[in-house]
Amino acid sequence: MKDDSSLSPDSRFETRAIHVGQDWRDQTGAVIPPVYLTSTFETGNPGGFDYTRSGSPNFRNLQNTLASLEGAKHCTVFASGVSAITAVASTLKSGDLVLAEENVYGCTYRLFARVFEKFGVKVKYVNFANEANFPLIKQLKPTLVWIESPTNPLLKCIDIAAISKLARAAGSTVVVDNTFASAFLQRPIELGAHLSLISTTKYSNGHSDALGGAVCSNDDEWQEKMIFAQKALGLQPSPFDAWLVSRGIKTMNLRMERHSANALELATRLEKTKGIKWVRYPFLKSHPQYKIATKQMSGGSGLIVADLGLSTAKTMKFMTKLHLFTQAESLGGIESLICHPATMTHASIPKEVRESVGITDGVVRFSVGIEHVEDLWNDIQQALKAAK
Ligand SMILES: *Cc1c(COP(=O)(O)O)cnc(C)c1O
Repeated sequence: MKDDSSLSPDSRFETRAIHVGQDWRDQTGAVIPPVYLTSTFETGNPGGFDYTRSGSPNFRNLQNTLASLEGAKHCTVFASGVSAITAVASTLKSGDLVLAEENVYGCTYRLFARVFEKFGVKVKYVNFANEANFPLIKQLKPTLVWIESPTNPLLKCIDIAAISKLARAAGSTVVVDNTFASAFLQRPIELGAHLSLISTTKYSNGHSDALGGAVCSNDDEWQEKMIFAQKALGLQPSPFDAWLVSRGIKTMNLRMERHSANALELATRLEKTKGIKWVRYPFLKSHPQYKIATKQMSGGSGLIVADLGLSTAKTMKFMTKLHLFTQAESLGGIESLICHPATMTHASIPKEVRESVGITDGVVRFSVGIEHVEDLWNDIQQALKAAK
């Protein structure tokens, strides 16, 4: 029942995004695989399906596509990025150490702090943008090294290849949260990481209409653990959400190219704008890890962080004056969004801690969509004028 075995093994990303993971169509000739809205499957079916919590044609299709695009042997899909994080964390036992980047996604931090640390998992946070901290991997030999690149919201870029090499030597497993970059721009497994974790809610789906997560690896044992977590912890997505992500992923290359081009242009112009304190974008030469970013990513992705140099009230006014950027959390959709980390995503972090890492009141995060860049720029300019 596999339809894509005829695909040449050297097919490129753009071709694989459209042609890998299109199985379970051969009895109907459907050009696009349907959504399998069924909770259970008749015993003895040729696909070996039994119950949707432990597998569905829609999961398998999406898993095949994502594994191919991430350059991995395996992939398991989950209900959300946080479900994927839960799946990986659930493999830990009391006493295990996680050595994590200090600027990890807020919900990753919360999941460790409020849930897994209760069960005796230890987590130590370090700044992995500083090479002076790399020897900690050899010293501490953590069970997991947890990194993210670029990070949220400061877009720190962390050397995945260097850290993976050190972690492999120390016997540690490296998990890279690849959500901000996407498989089109960065492939952690090819850089040496063991696991590439993605919130497919963001750039993979790209249309802000479904949630999903995935874990990719080349390791048969890890794959078994992830498939176990999918069914035993009830972390599976809905077949419809998996189908939506499969649909969205087909245009990932086009979207990522436009997100990256638009964001680079806006970041370049913002940096030249009077009154703006700083602009951070991985592919701007002024980015502190520009070299690492351009070494491991093929584009800068769609996020820009900037300190507009405005008070909280004026920053709020700027955001409400925007017409094309909707004020909302999340990122990676075709439409532009803006968020104010100090009062939104990072509101729960004490002000001193928040400011010490650079999230001051004038900081905004743009998730640049794929609209026309001149329209986006005009919108930013008129809103800045109105706010001042
Ligand atoms: C959104 C996000 C997640 C969590 O994904 P959900 O699909 O919202 O559960 C994890 N990591 C990063 C970097 C994210 O941006």
